[in-house]
Amino acid sequence: MAGAAAGAALLAAGALFFSGGRPFSSEPPLRISSGTFSASLDAVLKAEGFDDGTRHKVSTALSKKLNLRRLRPEDSYAVVYSTWGPFKYLFVTRDLQNYFLFPGEGGAYSLSVLPVQVSTASSKASGAIKSSLWESMSAAGVPPALILDYADVFSWSVDFLTEVRDGDKWALAWEYGADPAGRVVSQKVTAALYDGGETGRKTAAAHSGGYYDEKGESLRSMFLRAPLHYRRISSYFTNRRFHPVLKYFRPHQGIDYAAPSGTPVSAVADGTVSFAGWKGGNGKLVILRHGGGYETTYGHLSRYARGIRAGKRVSQGDLIAYVGSTGLSSGPHLDFRLKQGGKPLNFLKIKYRSSGGVSGKAREAVIAAIRALPAE
Ligand SMILES: [Zn+2]
Repeated sequence: MAGAAAGAALLAAGALFFSGGRPFSSEPPLRISSGTFSASLDAVLKAEGFDDGTRHKVSTALSKKLNLRRLRPEDSYAVVYSTWGPFKYLFVTRDLQNYFLFPGEGGAYSLSVLPVQVSTASSKASGAIKSSLWESMSAAGVPPALILDYADVFSWSVDFLTEVRDGDKWALAWEYGADPAGRVVSQKVTAALYDGGETGRKTAAAHSGGYYDEKGESLRSMFLRAPLHYRRISSYFTNRRFHPVLKYFRPHQGIDYAAPSGTPVSAVADGTVSFAGWKGGNGKLVILRHGGGYETTYGHLSRYARGIRAGKRVSQGDLIAYVGSTGLSSGPHLDFRLKQGGKPLNFLKIKYRSSGGVSGKAREAVIAAIRALPAE
């Protein structure tokens, strides 16, 4: 890995030499020593045989553009020894930047900063659910961060915590950028499908910053599919090495999500906190007021998230509280309700208007991306 990084750094150095027309441009380097910062820059240079004075000069020059205390084992270096004399130059690669240090006039060091070349590629995967989305996608080689991105794409239409059933089919295509050492530095879902017994067929393709289904309609809508959000909960449970499959019950004009005490609760829509406090049998309760006369309530909480009090504005997906069992409750669960104009609504049945769409060539591109997804 470090060798590849050093190779790429050398290419960059070559370009710099030749473009600068420096006298040493035609001399090939004799030896490269490279590695990562498992120790400090000073320790690395000492091990490379740099004397005290040179180490001090190198550190001083580098620290003009680079915080040396921030260097981590994922950052790499390459020291290049030339064919003649004690002359040395140095690369440090961090945060997709190459810091190239070389001796200039009168023994001072010059520093150039060049962006690391990122190459892009694409990949795809598909499968059928056995047990959970997380396990099925991991088993097919989908990186964890991308599983969360995939769940985010469908967060307005699929609740991956309660609606996943064995045999459901999924597919996704993604793009990623890799640095010269082969490390993935960016990734993005380009098309996705979820076809489930509970959910029906859901599709998505990326277009100019949003996601659209095969009718060309935006996936984004006023309400998230559930107040327990897959990304938030997965990161909460990942620390405990458990990937949850939750259940919900409908004992009244609302939904009870069975979830362990402490599970994070998210706002399903943009809005304002109209109440956060104890309310009889509801125990600790949060009420959010949204546009269109909608109101959502979250009951039996163990505690509120920081800053949640009446008057506070929240955005869709924001952490507002944690699941508990306060008030009249037989065990930890979230009591979630939706009302409009004071009247209870069935949250799982309401039809949302899509927030917009694409047509013409853009829609054709969206459809083509969805059709190109792999079949299971
Ligand atoms: Zn309840």
